[in-house]
Amino acid sequence: MTSEDTDSKKLLIFGTTAWDIINRKGKGEKKEEEILLGPNLVRELVDVKVKKAVTGPVSCHSFVITNEGQVWTFGRNERGQLGLGHKDTIPFPVNVSQQIDALKNEKIVAGATGRNHSLLVTAAGEVFAAGDNKLGQLGLSSLTDQTTFQKVTNLGKVTVVDVACGADFSLAIDDKGQIYAFGSMEYGQLGNGADGQYIKSAGQMGTHPQPQPLLVKSLAERKITAIACGANHSLALDDEGYVYSWGFGGLGRLGHGEQKDLSIPKVIPNLASVHELSRATQIACGASCSLALDGNKQMLLWGKWKNTGDGSSGQPWMAPRYLYDLNGWNLRQIAAGGSSLFALADDEMTTIAWGQVQNGELGFGEDSTVKTATKPQKVEPLEGIKPLQVSCGLGHTLLIVKADDELVPNLPKWPQLPETDDLCVKCHKEENDEQLLLCDKCDSPMHTYCADPPLDSIPEGEWYCDTCHPPASSKKRSADGAQVSGNKKSKSN
Ligand SMILES: [Zn+2]
Ligand SMILES: [Zn+2]
Repeated sequence: MTSEDTDSKKLLIFGTTAWDIINRKGKGEKKEEEILLGPNLVRELVDVKVKKAVTGPVSCHSFVITNEGQVWTFGRNERGQLGLGHKDTIPFPVNVSQQIDALKNEKIVAGATGRNHSLLVTAAGEVFAAGDNKLGQLGLSSLTDQTTFQKVTNLGKVTVVDVACGADFSLAIDDKGQIYAFGSMEYGQLGNGADGQYIKSAGQMGTHPQPQPLLVKSLAERKITAIACGANHSLALDDEGYVYSWGFGGLGRLGHGEQKDLSIPKVIPNLASVHELSRATQIACGASCSLALDGNKQMLLWGKWKNTGDGSSGQPWMAPRYLYDLNGWNLRQIAAGGSSLFALADDEMTTIAWGQVQNGELGFGEDSTVKTATKPQKVEPLEGIKPLQVSCGLGHTLLIVKADDELVPNLPKWPQLPETDDLCVKCHKEENDEQLLLCDKCDSPMHTYCADPPLDSIPEGEWYCDTCHPPASSKKRSADGAQVSGNKKSKSN
């Protein structure tokens, strides 16, 4: 166990939370409170041991995995991609593991999100899937959408260790480092040498669904350690640091110096150096770009990663290039979303972001005049906070940080709650405000002596009111069905 496993961590969010209208014109106006220009603590998860945040460059929905292997979800849900048994949008995180029987006893260790589908991986190497299944992206025997998480039976006895989702296809790697691909075969994105196209009617092409996972045969001799997907392309990294790409080749995102689609994975020459340190240790995909970290913790970028100028569709980067603005930073993680790009500085308290974004998903803050950046910038509201893991969505960003004593607890919480007066929620008296505590989850004020059990003094560190964290004694009382009233002040309890 590394120290990071035992460290206390918090989940931050920034960008838009208007899940149903992201990237959609004429679907209603975003309300001001739905746009988070700066980092906010996710209120529902402040008292949860968060381990991993999961979203993707074409996703308006997210998952959060806890140390215990439980999974929380929120966001757009039009195809049932949250796996909760319905198609209603979930604005704020809810615990899926507690609600869905199929997941109740499963320890979730990894996951991925596509445009309208989701995959979760268990510690035992099984995969569960939910959402849009028209093209077989859930890997099930039927092609109907699934609103509740279903075990991916078509993977048979394969022991899966990680997954990645494109817009409407899925990849899984197993414990032997082999890749399986299923879903839409368009652009050759399943890496099996075909694009699955057929003539539907005059002038109209269709794509055959591929619900049966296909082994990516051309990489069968390699041991793959990581996979990443953009909307319609994929990267794979092997244990020697070589990176392979395939799928849609538009705007140079495959890194081969041309815009041709590839239906068979091909090693990226710029990352295939004889020097091991110049090969890759990490890969990531944005919607239309690709990223890698080399052995010197430096980032390479290719494809289209902004809207104007060098790096845009007019001048895409056709092969991996170092981004000189990031020179000198040792990076621990890179990620990209719909338009956002992130680099987390290793052993530094710095988060770096850029991209021509529209929803505040770079987190520069309400006070910043800059909302979008064509060059990497420090995310000022996060200076001094150690970033651990970032996952970028279509218009939002999830960042797991190390919880410190000063900066993190003082960040605003999402959602914002209506202003309340500073009266103790128990006795409703204004007196003794030096004995007044604020709950770290719901912000309710309460006297130390009104807490259950009563406290002698203001506790150090986090404190949660007894509505957010019911004390054992009250659970017992209500379970007994007695003494709920009339005995609350009794010291003998
Ligand atoms: Zn009180
Ligand atoms: Zn509370």
